[in-house]
Amino acid sequence: MATYKHIEVPAGDKVVVNGGKLETPDQPIIGFIEGDGIGPDIWKASQFLFDEAVRHCYGDSRKIAWMEIFAGEKANQITGSYLPEETLEAIREFELAIKGPLTTPIGGGFRSLNVSLRQLLDLFACVRPVRHFDTVPSPVIAPQNVNMTIFRENTEDVYSGLELESGTPEAEKLAAFCKAEFGWNIRPESGLGLKPVSEYGTKRIVRAALNHAVKHGSKSVTLVHKGNIMKYTEGAFMRWGYDLVKEEFSDVAVSWEDCNGDPGDKILVKDTIADIFLQQILTRPKEFDVVATMNLNGDYISDALAAQVGGIGIAPGANINYETGVAIFEATHGTAPKYANQDKVNPSSVVLSGVMMFEYMGWQEVADTLVDAMTRTFHNKTVTYDFARLMQDAKLLKCSEFAKAVADNMKACQPVQA
Ligand code: NAP
Repeated sequence: MATYKHIEVPAGDKVVVNGGKLETPDQPIIGFIEGDGIGPDIWKASQFLFDEAVRHCYGDSRKIAWMEIFAGEKANQITGSYLPEETLEAIREFELAIKGPLTTPIGGGFRSLNVSLRQLLDLFACVRPVRHFDTVPSPVIAPQNVNMTIFRENTEDVYSGLELESGTPEAEKLAAFCKAEFGWNIRPESGLGLKPVSEYGTKRIVRAALNHAVKHGSKSVTLVHKGNIMKYTEGAFMRWGYDLVKEEFSDVAVSWEDCNGDPGDKILVKDTIADIFLQQILTRPKEFDVVATMNLNGDYISDALAAQVGGIGIAPGANINYETGVAIFEATHGTAPKYANQDKVNPSSVVLSGVMMFEYMGWQEVADTLVDAMTRTFHNKTVTYDFARLMQDAKLLKCSEFAKAVADNMKACQPVQA
């Protein structure tokens, strides 16, 4: 076990990956980053619920050994760095971490900590399940028709950070190179960015989406792209995705073209253009199940879908490298600094990210208990301010009170002994 300067490793055991399979001990050490702004409030509520749900399911036979790791403002206060190297080391060593939101410090050249974490740990799959909980207020007529899992590629595309500022010698040099080598005329004083999309990067995200579809008995996987305009990046994403179906999944999946839209009992792999897709998730969301897409499209699509089922206060997320097993589960909203330390906001995004973590660990009973108890809590209209303002006759609860209500509702859920 590595030694750390600021991280205290609790008694417990490491989650390990053996032959490509995650093995979870009874007392797994799991890293947590509480986050900035509203982070401490929602983390406290979530950790309480995670511990309650584990106790509800397994009594004293299983328990999480929480290990605080640092990123963001707290890390800067303690270590002088917003993203200390030992945080990355600890996540690599212990495989799993869960985090609240982090402020992106404003200032020259500062990259988002979230983007940095994903890229430095090569967490190539951003996984966002989107489903509606009964009674949660939504701006659409039939939010229950939305039930999708988005696999967004996390390491390529225009988010790679390969950008040059307008007017700099570097930007002028690149523009001159493009003119000399390819005859491309780039308007003077342009900022420039590169959009790398590789066969390797495409195939590993589409593979993750297909594996998920197989595991969950999904009916379809949709590749979302703008290949009609960006043929060699987004168009290639679609082609490589279809190639992968033939190369590795032909026994369980078939492309639309190869079955004329009738896949039998196989998973149907289809594609759609991103702008049309944003219409279709509103007009006929039932037609989509698992979605695989690139980084920028995935960012827009995740938030648009989250809005359809009740907004970002409730949307969970995970960033996973399925090859190393390393995963960070995270709230998908930001730090909402105006609500910091008011014990006010909705902790559901972190709680449901925890649900994803328990599923990933194989502690399905805990995940099911949390979902069941939250469903009951929403159904009782006992909610935080963000939902209360959109519901009739709701009982307004603080963040900690909401957690207590969910914990109370666990008593009605079937206890399970592993
Ligand atoms: P934000 O923090 O997500 O807040 C925007 C609005 O969303 C809030 O004012 C609030 O709406 C609502 N909201 C967010 N979290 C909520 C919750 N748990 N419960 C209820 N409502 C919630 O977005 P932002 O103000 O654009 O960003 C603030 C900071 O967060 C920035 O530094 C940004 O870089 C960072 N950020 C971090 C992450 C991350 O760590 N994953 C993601 C996005 C942004 P109302 O005011 O209408 O109630």
